[in-house]
Amino acid sequence: MARLFDLSGKVALVTGANTGIGQGIALALAGAGADIAAAGRSPATETVGKVEVLGRKAADFTADLSSVAAVQPLVDAVLDEFGRIDILVNNAGIIRRADAVDFTEADWDAVIDTNLKTLFFLCQAAGRHMIARGSGKIINIASLLTFQGGIRVPSYTASKSGVGGLTKLLANEWAAKGVQVNAIAPGYIATNNTAALQSDETRNRQIMERIPAGRWGDPADIGGAAVFLASAASDYVQGHILAVDGGWLAR
Ligand code: NAP
Repeated sequence: MARLFDLSGKVALVTGANTGIGQGIALALAGAGADIAAAGRSPATETVGKVEVLGRKAADFTADLSSVAAVQPLVDAVLDEFGRIDILVNNAGIIRRADAVDFTEADWDAVIDTNLKTLFFLCQAAGRHMIARGSGKIINIASLLTFQGGIRVPSYTASKSGVGGLTKLLANEWAAKGVQVNAIAPGYIATNNTAALQSDETRNRQIMERIPAGRWGDPADIGGAAVFLASAASDYVQGHILAVDGGWLAR
């Protein structure tokens, strides 16, 4: 059974791996045996150190993923260093909050560019490499707002709804080529991204009351789902959006 989840010899490119959910996923994949290419705009020094403690190779790649211009140089640099990409985790993402009537074009473009446009072109660049090799696993990080509307986050909701649709489209095109594309929809996870919600007493109470598990998630809670979707255990899972949300969507 352990072999089903074994990632020994695999190389995983994880974006936004310096902190939060990306770090949780990188450490879980490394724990299952994968080497880690950590990519982001801030140094992933802590993540690289922790992966190395687990006995795996890790390298940090600087990439500002707000622009598609960063995509091909990043994929080329990872291939130069590791020789292959077996797993791509599109985790890097941002959020901007304002009432819909006040929402600015700048906040629309910033979120859509990072969360959706760059995500697609990273799938494309890594996907070409995976298709040529006849295998690969892509995991996109979606959101509860892939399924729900939310409030005061119009570009985030649009981006994450788009991530859900793209995940299914790419699965349809690439499943027969040996490349699996799936997504994880995290629930409320305690990270920088949700710091404003955690510190708002009223919103924090409302959120906690609705989570059947009775607690915020931890980045490590996402790791198991990532290992599942990155490993042979999920070989017949295609275009799925796996909620890891303490039961939020079941409420
Ligand atoms: P986080 O702690 O804010 O981490 C976001 C990561 O994305 C950071 O590594 C950040 O780098 C990176 N990033 C942002 N913009 C970037 C850019 N232009 N170029 C390169 N890297 C960039 O938030 P998180 O909660 O772990 O979020 C990770 C993913 O999960 C996001 O896609 C988010 O939408 C999604 N998500 C989170 C939750 C939640 O409750 N936390 C729920 C659902 C979905 P810096 O450190 O340099 O900013």
